[in-house]
Amino acid sequence: MAILARNLFVFFLFTIFAGACYLTWSIEHRLPERTYSEFRYCLSHHDISDMTFTGNRVVISHRAGETSTNPGFTYVTMVPNPEELIQELKDKNIRIIFNKDQSELILQGLALLYIVLLILVIVLSLSKIKRDEKESKFATDKLILPDDGHKVVTFKDVAGIPEALEELEEIVAFLKNPTQFSQVGATIPKGVLLQGPPGTGKTLLARAIAGESGVPFYSFSGSDFVEMFVGVGASRVRDLFKEAKRNAPCIVFIDEIDAVGGSRSSGSSASGSDERSQTLNALLVEMDGFGSSDNIVVMAATNRPDILDSALRRPGRFDRQVNILPPDIIGRQKILQIHAAKIKLSPGLDLHQIAQTCPGFTGAELANLVNEAALMAARGGKKAVDYTDFELARDRLLMGVERKGMIMTEKDRNILAYHEAGHAIIAKSLPDADPLHKITIIPRGRALGQTQQLALFDRHAYSYHYLKDRITILMGGRAAEDLAFDQRSTGAQGDILQATEIATNMICKWGMNETIGAQAFMIDDSGFLGGASQRLPMADETARSIDHEIKTLLATCYEDAMAILSQKFYLLKNLAGILVQAETLDNEEFDIILACSEKKKAADDISDKNECTTCPASQSCIHSKIKKTTPCIL
Ligand code: ADP
Repeated sequence: MAILARNLFVFFLFTIFAGACYLTWSIEHRLPERTYSEFRYCLSHHDISDMTFTGNRVVISHRAGETSTNPGFTYVTMVPNPEELIQELKDKNIRIIFNKDQSELILQGLALLYIVLLILVIVLSLSKIKRDEKESKFATDKLILPDDGHKVVTFKDVAGIPEALEELEEIVAFLKNPTQFSQVGATIPKGVLLQGPPGTGKTLLARAIAGESGVPFYSFSGSDFVEMFVGVGASRVRDLFKEAKRNAPCIVFIDEIDAVGGSRSSGSSASGSDERSQTLNALLVEMDGFGSSDNIVVMAATNRPDILDSALRRPGRFDRQVNILPPDIIGRQKILQIHAAKIKLSPGLDLHQIAQTCPGFTGAELANLVNEAALMAARGGKKAVDYTDFELARDRLLMGVERKGMIMTEKDRNILAYHEAGHAIIAKSLPDADPLHKITIIPRGRALGQTQQLALFDRHAYSYHYLKDRITILMGGRAAEDLAFDQRSTGAQGDILQATEIATNMICKWGMNETIGAQAFMIDDSGFLGGASQRLPMADETARSIDHEIKTLLATCYEDAMAILSQKFYLLKNLAGILVQAETLDNEEFDIILACSEKKKAADDISDKNECTTCPASQSCIHSKIKKTTPCIL
């Protein structure tokens, strides 16, 4: 409203000024006025050249005399009855000019213009007020105050990223007590860039810092700044910092900063990149503009640090960069503990065991897993969440929902069972492979079946033998199909792709081939989201050798798989047969089938085909599901 009052005041001032100018001008240029009697006198005694009538108002011009003492003059008078005068003027041969009286029209026009201008001033002022309100709301809307009823997030709610917490503790100390730092002349980083894959807890960490230090927290997403109109983002950035300075000490958090902070050299659309680069410039200027005495800490998060503009990382801006990666097994267990505290767990449930089955899961995925498990338990009418719920929830998250409605022919199910059994037997037979966890032929998501292995510990580096065994396991599915049916199915597509990827990386990136040597022929996309690797330029001859070596490695692994399965064909047959009926088998069940099969093969003395006399678990047989369908097919 102050804007409206100010603009109206300026407008009225301008009106008064314009009126005064007009008045001065008209006084200066006003013709002298004479009475009608004086005019009558002049008419009879002087030489009038012409008379201009505008209604009753007449401008009279006298001709100049021959002497310089009579230069001629003009004046105005009011004539009561102009028509009566006309004949007399004609007789005196005076030029008569009639002007239309437009003064009223002009006055009306001016009044209209004045009203229009006044309305324009009011409308523009009101829209500016509205815009300003919206912009200032833009910042205040995103403000989370420590005591406004939101659940305060603290470091207790964050787990699995101890290094990041340690690194950011001093920011908390600074925000809690800035003078302690300023006294000794220490300056705290103005900007902290949290970089890591999605869901690793970057936003959570920023909120925890605000919660721990008890300061206001402005939370934005990079895309909040980017609007269709060039300049809006920049003005929002300015408003935000103005607002933040008012509420200092505080934290300004910009999630997905790559939306505005992407490299300016890689802008695509002209206007879009204009807006983005203006917003980024405004951000850079604002970050340069405030000092450590302003007590504002700007935090930003990204999962694409590779595309950020290098100006953002310059000292004095985001000069502290903290990497946040998916947690290790202990971290996963701690995150599970935090989220499982909100649900009812069945007594004795070991979260470490669950953490072990989720390698590579981020904090967000673990939170989701806990929730899914709770939903599973609720759906099943259980009172508490048990291990099976977590297992089902994990499969659902990793592979999608069970495709119960999918109808497969008996033959296809048989092929699938052999395929998965092939993977499982190889996984069990190779020394460097991860332990077997589960084999299933229940279709989920895009996968028809799956053989799951679970590492006992998190792997950070992979050995040659581990990778080669991995390829051999992948080839196990195709080898089993070849052995059992002597024909191939499309089911091996995913395995072949994965095996080729591993073999290519082994040779082109990790220097694991004697002939090709330790030279990089491929580069990675460095973003956390991964991305396609690219082969570097190389000679045709080198490319041919690389292709040859990849092919040889894949062929060797396939032959190894074939050799193992040929040797254990009896087991393959048994396992596939049971899998068709049981649909899912775990490691323990596999071990029993293995032991049973081996004993059977050794003794080959089964008296009753329907009962496995040598089965170590003959009392309860292998699996309750198997027991229901067939007592034991071994
Ligand atoms: P990001 O910002 O990295 O994409 P978020 O911070 O938004 O991830 O995480 C989403 C959710 O996942 C959080 O609200 C929290 O419930 C859970 N989460 C993620 N990381 C962690 C963690 N380290 N500790 C506890 N919970 C976490």
